Amino acid sequence: MKNILFLIWIILYFSIPNHQKDRYKERRLDMVENQIVARGINDKATLDALRNVERHNLVPGPQIVHAYEDRPLPIGHGQTISQPYIVAYMTQVIKPKPGMKVLEIGTGSGYQAAVLAEIVEKVYSIEIVEPLGERAKNNLDNLGYSNIEIKIADGYHGWEEFAPYDAIVVTAASGFIPPPLIEQLKEGGRMIIPVGAPFTAQQLVLVEKTKGGKWKTKNLLPVRFVPFTRS
Ligand code: SAH
Repeated sequence: MKNILFLIWIILYFSIPNHQKDRYKERRLDMVENQIVARGINDKATLDALRNVERHNLVPGPQIVHAYEDRPLPIGHGQTISQPYIVAYMTQVIKPKPGMKVLEIGTGSGYQAAVLAEIVEKVYSIEIVEPLGERAKNNLDNLGYSNIEIKIADGYHGWEEFAPYDAIVVTAASGFIPPPLIEQLKEGGRMIIPVGAPFTAQQLVLVEKTKGGKWKTKNLLPVRFVPFTRS
């Protein structure tokens, strides 16, 4: 009897797809404590989202073992996924809440989109490199994120159809803030965007849109992002 039960257990275990086993949970929880909480991120929704999102299932195969390290990772096509702390920082800064509609420019691996989708109602994400967008879409579908919409396009123009957005997260560095994005931000909305020339000092800039369509900016943190490209 014992043997039969063991056999059944073995069969069941190996029939579960890898992504459902979440063998990396401990590493992920350590990442959140040692890299994120330790550096002062305290928004509960943001921390819980980072505890949940299986980052190792969104990075390319060879990077899986590095998924929870304190650094950016290559995701192919010359692009990188930001260090987890930066993703947490950008998420906290837009004050994500249930019910919000968020636009992301630069889907990349889909990790930032997944973190947002854990908290808000709907995430629209635009990626300019087609194979990256397609891969992210597949991975996010496999992980069960049904509240993320991805399109392949130049994010400079935003995504007019679903505007205005409660928040916008831009994950590629632009020399200036694209005017269509400011336009598509709700009054009272927040946008976070790295601003600066490629491969030089850039600043993470918070844009707050106030009543009457006015907006103000605040430099928050020096960062280094891949360039915002144009099609
Ligand atoms: N948020 C991503 C980070 C990806 S890096 C993640 O969590 O993995 C930045 C991404 O922005 C790259 O994939 C790059 O191809 C994309 N990108 C650059 N310029 C863009 C543009 N104009 N429109 C849409 N995506 C762009």
